[in-house]
Amino acid sequence: SPYRGPSASDLFKRRKHYLPTSVGPYYTNPLNLVEGKMQYLYDENGRRYLDAFGGIATVSCGHCHPDVVEATVNQMRLLQHTTVLYLNHAVIDFAEALAAKFPGDLKAVFFTNSGTEANELALMIARLYTSCHDIISIRNGYHGNATSTMGATAQNIHKFNVVQSGVHHALNPDPYRGVFGSDGVKYANDVQDIIDYGTCGRVAGFIAESIQGVGGVIELAPGYLPEVHSIIKKAGGLFIADEVQTGFGRTGSHFWGFEAHGIVPDIITLAKGIGNGAPIGAVVTTPQIAEVLSRRTYFSTFGGNPVCSAAGHAVLRVIEKEKLEQNAFVVGSYLKECLSSLMDKHEIIGDVRGKGMLLGVELVKDQKLKVPASAEMLHIIEKMKDMGVLVGKGGFHGNVIRITPPLCFTKEDADFLVDVMDYTMLKM
Ligand code: PMP
Repeated sequence: SPYRGPSASDLFKRRKHYLPTSVGPYYTNPLNLVEGKMQYLYDENGRRYLDAFGGIATVSCGHCHPDVVEATVNQMRLLQHTTVLYLNHAVIDFAEALAAKFPGDLKAVFFTNSGTEANELALMIARLYTSCHDIISIRNGYHGNATSTMGATAQNIHKFNVVQSGVHHALNPDPYRGVFGSDGVKYANDVQDIIDYGTCGRVAGFIAESIQGVGGVIELAPGYLPEVHSIIKKAGGLFIADEVQTGFGRTGSHFWGFEAHGIVPDIITLAKGIGNGAPIGAVVTTPQIAEVLSRRTYFSTFGGNPVCSAAGHAVLRVIEKEKLEQNAFVVGSYLKECLSSLMDKHEIIGDVRGKGMLLGVELVKDQKLKVPASAEMLHIIEKMKDMGVLVGKGGFHGNVIRITPPLCFTKEDADFLVDVMDYTMLKM
């Protein structure tokens, strides 16, 4: 049905007044989105956009996927309540199905309302379990916007003046810009140095994304995580895998990002894609570690409520039924290949990286000097939007195009995206 709501310019004016924020909206003429269907979004004029960034804004299965909508609406009609005071099968069924996706003893689930909350809880559990306070995270990582997670986050634009207690930021094992190139073990030595020179020799834990999302889709240098895992274990700490962006099949080769590194974490945190848009997050750990939370009362009114759990459970079924993990691998690999082939043609592309449907294109003024082309990136994503393709921005220097579509993205969608990017770069 035709849109009869307020215009984009009216909404923009009111948003500035009532919802002050330093973030967005993207684009000089902000997009007013009124509808979504799988990999497509529609503005108030009925214009269709290919959404190659929805994965970051929580969509894994596709916008308004009918199975997820149906499960959510049915549960909303039946019962919505707090999570823990009473029994409810939607919550317990989802926890069980989620736990089945993890190896070994990782079967204890705590639901939260966001990724920040999941990471806050993970850090607290690590500190309780080890009776240590020091946490090591990686420079350029993003873990959330509350006190502890902002401390663990290591990009100045995401940090306010919070007391950053007991957090150490290790060298970023960034194969493109890092000092040791792709030598993961050399970067890992910095984690050992931090433990040796900056702590009592024992730590609460280490937290990292297996591919940095907000940081500009940076794949950690090979060998880094296994080496750090053994260093952290020797120092008595817990290994926390932040799978908020890398989870639920997005990286294609595995259901969880950590699996590609051959390690088994002690704690895993989830959010975003878990609910295909429903606000839910989770912490998964072993019963032995989870036990520390029974020392006192830990409670979240809505964390894992029946409605969000019904959505989350439907997401797991859709990923399986529609083979979305395999699709992420096949279409994602194809897309990465096509993007890489643009490098020969366009000097501005410094690097193409990522896995599955978590891809990044880093723009530089010169391929050798790697000077960030940040203004050019803004121009390119604006022009791509004008041609009907939405991509994201990221990276410490704001010069990385982030491509994280819903996992139902097709090869035809990939071709269209690449053609549009190619054309936009030719016209610069
Ligand atoms: N961890 C990672 C890796 C993230 O990308 C984000 C969100 N960008 C978060 C945690 C925080 O999640 P939320 O915004 O749901 O609090």
